Amino acid sequence: MSVERSKLALEIIDTCLEMNRLGLNQGTAGNVSVRYENGMLITPTGIEYDKLTPNHIVFVSEDGEFEEGKIPSSEWAFHMTCYKAREDCQAVVHNHAINSAAVSILNRPIPAIHYMVAASGTNEIPCVPYATFGSPELAGYVDEGIKQSKSILLQHHGMITVGENLKKALWLAHETEVLADLYLKCLSVQSEIPVLPEQEMNHVLDKFKTYGLRVEK
Ligand SMILES: [Zn+2]
Repeated sequence: MSVERSKLALEIIDTCLEMNRLGLNQGTAGNVSVRYENGMLITPTGIEYDKLTPNHIVFVSEDGEFEEGKIPSSEWAFHMTCYKAREDCQAVVHNHAINSAAVSILNRPIPAIHYMVAASGTNEIPCVPYATFGSPELAGYVDEGIKQSKSILLQHHGMITVGENLKKALWLAHETEVLADLYLKCLSVQSEIPVLPEQEMNHVLDKFKTYGLRVEK
């Protein structure tokens, strides 16, 4: 294994473990990938995170071929979709974090309830329609959603975030979960939730572009 590949494989494992520590993951439901050569490196199916070694991480080529003897996460297709949909996407994080999944069940986007929604690069975090996990149909919905926003909810399922590296994708996943939690708390008090005006959200989006987000590489 090349030095580059083993470094990325270790980063994937660290991201999985950190996802557990942050409480974003439910069982082994989450999966993580990075862009690599003409495809991606992704977590395998059915191996607990604390048992993962770099050898378990699977290479999947852009035409969907797996390296011999390894089976990627059953949700690999929408990871690949993200890399094809966005040039700026170098890493993908997916999980079934409880608050994000709850908002996805309500089939609502997360509106501009807080300026941090702009961390997704848009003024609301969309919720894409339900389709069976691992299906080409779901990958098609993800394609539409992820082109609009670096963070999306999947109806009756969970969330996907993308970033320029794993740290940023994981950071955005955590932010998304915090926003979903906040949104549910507001919804438990009243059904009409105040949102920031579009003009202010555009201002924040501009600021994020200029100053960047303070996330370490
Ligand atoms: Zn899933």
